[in-house]
Amino acid sequence: MIVLTIEHTKRWMEEIEKRMLEHKDQLTEFDQAIGDGDHGINMARGFHEVVAKINHVTYDSVSDVLKSAAMTLMAKVGGASGPLYGTAFLKMSMAMQGKEVNEEVFCQAMKDAVDGIHTRGKAEFGEKTLYDVWKQVADFLELEEVAEWQGLLEVCQATIEDTRELVATKGRASYLKERSKGHVDPGSMSSFYIFEALVEVIDW
Ligand code: ADP
Ligand code: MG
Ligand code: MG
Repeated sequence: MIVLTIEHTKRWMEEIEKRMLEHKDQLTEFDQAIGDGDHGINMARGFHEVVAKINHVTYDSVSDVLKSAAMTLMAKVGGASGPLYGTAFLKMSMAMQGKEVNEEVFCQAMKDAVDGIHTRGKAEFGEKTLYDVWKQVADFLELEEVAEWQGLLEVCQATIEDTRELVATKGRASYLKERSKGHVDPGSMSSFYIFEALVEVIDW
C-alpha cells in the first residue's frame, strides 16, 4: 500500500511549519540554555521557506518534493540543523527516487536519512543531539511489524527526555561540557515536531 503521496508530503511540510511556528519560543528557550538561542528562528524560517518553495512548483514525485525541501533547508538555514535536516530529507528523497512510497520504501528511506545525519554530523547515539531521536525512530520502524504511531511518538518523547541528563559532546552545547546537563537538546525537540507532523499525514 502507498503510504506517502505527493499531497501527503506537501501536507507534511505544512504541518511541520505550523508546529515550528507554534513552538518557536520553546525551541528558542531550549537553545538559549545550551546554545546560541536561534533554533526556533532557524526552524520557523527554514520550514516557512520550504512551504513557500513547494507551493510554487508542480511535482511529479514524492522524491522531488523532498529534494526541494532538502535544498531549501540547506540554503536557508544557517547553523548546524539546516545541513543536518537537509541531508536527512535528501537521503529520503534519494531512497524514494523512481518508487512509490510503501511501508518498505519509507522504512528504508528513514534508515538512509539516519545514516546521512550520522555521516554528516559524526554524532553517535547518546551525544545529546537530534541524531538520538532519528535513530530511535528508525529502529522503532524496523522492529515494529506494523508501526504503532502512538508508540513511535512515545519513544520520541522518552528519547527527548533522556537528552536532559546527557552531557553534550557534539555541536555548540558541547562547549558547556558538564553544564549542558539538566537541559533538553533543542534539535531533539524540533525532530519530535517533524515526526508528530508525519504521523498526522502518513497513510499507514
Ligand atoms: P546552531 O547550533 O549552529 O546554532 P541550531 O541551533 O539550529 O544550530 O541547531 C542546534 C541543534 O543541532 C542541536 O540541538 C543538536 O540537536 C543539533 N546538532 C548540532 N551538532 C550536531 C551534530 N554534529 N550531529 C547531530 N546533530 C547536531
Ligand atoms: Mg543554535
Ligand atoms: Mg546558530
